[in-house]
Amino acid sequence: MKSILFKTTIFALLANLIFVAQFAMAQTSTSSVVLKNAKTIYLTFDADMTVYMKNKLLSGKVKEWYDPEIISYLEEKKIPATIFVTGLFAEIYSQEIKQWTDNNLLIENHTYDHSAFESPCFGLKVLKLNKDKLAEIKKTQDILFKITGKNPKLFRYPGLCHNSSDDFLVRNMGLSINNGSLTANDAFNKNYASIVKTVLARAKDQSVILMHLGGPNAPSTSQALKQIIPQLEKMGFTFKSLDN
Ligand SMILES: [Zn+2]
Repeated sequence: MKSILFKTTIFALLANLIFVAQFAMAQTSTSSVVLKNAKTIYLTFDADMTVYMKNKLLSGKVKEWYDPEIISYLEEKKIPATIFVTGLFAEIYSQEIKQWTDNNLLIENHTYDHSAFESPCFGLKVLKLNKDKLAEIKKTQDILFKITGKNPKLFRYPGLCHNSSDDFLVRNMGLSINNGSLTANDAFNKNYASIVKTVLARAKDQSVILMHLGGPNAPSTSQALKQIIPQLEKMGFTFKSLDN
């Protein structure tokens, strides 16, 4: 009797062990699948516009200050992305921005006329007074709200030039600062392969890639993007906009 009980106990123990081992293996494989799927990239594009750029557009010296191919590629591949828009750009391209919002591209604040908050900053015009900095942000919030029906929640500095007192100002307006974490170096860059290389070498989970929306100041972004997106997908990344 004792030996039957002993054998039964051993059997039950073994069965339990096997069950636990199988469960552990299942957990491991499930978590590795989840981990692979959880690799996220946030694509972001700056839509810059200065008064100088606006005048070039109006005089016909520049055809467009963005590349429609970037937008159509994102839409065709259903890739979510975030666009940091200057107020001047939004005033000129309001219909386009409305369309982009309807197609799930997220629109956020990149000042009114792309003035820098601190100097030197790549030759940009510099705002010295806090009231002027606040006015730029507020004006663009209002313009973007009128077009999209949504209040932008994120802000990015032109040229990324700023200091901690600027951060205080921006946050006081209820905005979060997002300056990206991976600069693709696409501004004024004609070498698309170097942009691809920069991004692929440095991309990791949660990277926020900073690019520009094309046009003469970002002549190779579109071509680079068509390599970057499929390559990142192959590496197991998925794309999100910054609102999720
Ligand atoms: Zn910019």
